[in-house]
Amino acid sequence: MAAKTPAFETNLIHAGQSPDPTQLSRGVAIHRTSSFVFKSTEHAANLFALKEFGNIYTRLGNPTTAILEDRITALEGGAASVAFASGTAAIFSTIITIAKQGDHIVSASNLYGGTYTQFDAILPDFGITTTFVDVKDPSNFEKAIQPNTKILYVETIGNPALDFADLDAISKIAKKHKLPLVVDATFTTPALLHSIEHGANIVVQSLTKWIGGHGTAIGGIVTDAGNFDWSDKKFDQFNKNDKNYHGLRWAIDLPDALKPIAFALRLRTVPLRNLGASLSPDSAWIFLQGLETLNLRVARHVENSQKVAEYLEKHKKVSWVRYPGLKADPTHKVAAKYLKNGFGGVVVFGVKSGREGGGKFIDNLKLFSHLANVGDAKSLALHPASTSHSQLSDEQQKAGGLPPELVRLSIGLENIDDLLADLDQALALT
Ligand SMILES: *Cc1c(COP(=O)(O)O)cnc(C)c1O
Repeated sequence: MAAKTPAFETNLIHAGQSPDPTQLSRGVAIHRTSSFVFKSTEHAANLFALKEFGNIYTRLGNPTTAILEDRITALEGGAASVAFASGTAAIFSTIITIAKQGDHIVSASNLYGGTYTQFDAILPDFGITTTFVDVKDPSNFEKAIQPNTKILYVETIGNPALDFADLDAISKIAKKHKLPLVVDATFTTPALLHSIEHGANIVVQSLTKWIGGHGTAIGGIVTDAGNFDWSDKKFDQFNKNDKNYHGLRWAIDLPDALKPIAFALRLRTVPLRNLGASLSPDSAWIFLQGLETLNLRVARHVENSQKVAEYLEKHKKVSWVRYPGLKADPTHKVAAKYLKNGFGGVVVFGVKSGREGGGKFIDNLKLFSHLANVGDAKSLALHPASTSHSQLSDEQQKAGGLPPELVRLSIGLENIDDLLADLDQALALT
């Protein structure tokens, strides 16, 4: 008997797609085309006026990419999703859909390096400023809210310190102040956490990591939970005539059925359409392939990561380890409230011989690849302070929980004994 609502594992494989009605192909077809033929002048005009939804031009949307968007929407329990060329482009496009010159963001300080630089160094040039706060105390978010604040921003498991965000507590503050909570869920994926159930209004993620899962393509996606009311006057871009789109007031003029996804519609028709960071349909196909095995892979990633973390915790050459799955981890208690299927695929630690020892450790790894990525089937290692987070000052690195000796491991799907043996021989040389 078929369940009414398909289960998560079924949605990973089927949501958003049915066999192609014309060609009958079972696999997802890649629509490698820039443009789509209009049936008539009226059809074309309706599509451009949003009176009818359909394909126009791949920069705005593509049927292969649409399957990915609909599948992620189903997996996150959201209302609509928009794919982008990268996680980074997804984040920037999200911010400028809500905030403009003179506006302000309150963000966790424990952020992916590129996001930190975007908020700290690029957005100020557009007149958007950010106050960074320690995510471990949710009340920090409330204290930092200003009259011009438009967004609260967190990562579920922050990168690289791995502090877990108490979404229930932070979303309560967001609701009280009528602000959208934007959550970067890259490190948890929908296989470990449904952020919308904990009050997220917008979920962004890099598809590049565990969703793609094999280190073969770059992409990002934004999911609109459809649960935020944009009619509060402080959201100018939703309440004043939008010069970017026929003078439309998104929170007022849209038909009621579309009002819940006003954000997703503006995201597609303003930044995606006019700034153009579109995902290639070839990459969309790669991410759909990745999704089919997401649950199976994530289960193995978390199993291996837990074992690596416990191994490092006991190793005499290691001075400290952070993994939300370790009982002693500062955010374990909070993380355990939310994460019922494991604590993610990244472990960070420091060796007793410090920064230099960390460098030696990385240089001597054989099975782990030294590179700047996470979420690959292959195990990876990186020294963030000299690579991904090197744009940050020493002070910013410290505030983001990044000591200079920190080594980040992304634990892959290899046999655990082979992984531990590689760590063991490299640690022996530190
Ligand atoms: C990788 C990553 C990003 C950026 O995504 P790209 O696809 O590399 O642009 C953003 N946030 C987090 C948490 C990430 O790990």
